[in-house]
Amino acid sequence: MTYVCIKCGATWIVGDPTDDKSGGLCDQCITLYVRERQKNQGSDDCFNRAVENCSNSECNYWECCNREVIKCDEERREA
Ligand SMILES: [Zn+2]
Repeated sequence: MTYVCIKCGATWIVGDPTDDKSGGLCDQCITLYVRERQKNQGSDDCFNRAVENCSNSECNYWECCNREVIKCDEERREA
């Protein structure tokens, strides 16, 4: 599927390219959007900045933000 970012117009492809385009937010726009929300909530705008597991598990975006890190940890454990 070919995706077009509804905000900045960037395109990206997941799987096979298609003529039909689906709208969404690109990684960069999601990051900026979540950081804006974090700032509005009075938190650090730390989304996607973490290089290791974030200690702020109260954060609404913790799971989303730490998903890559968790995945990496699991892969390392299985290896
Ligand atoms: Zn975008």
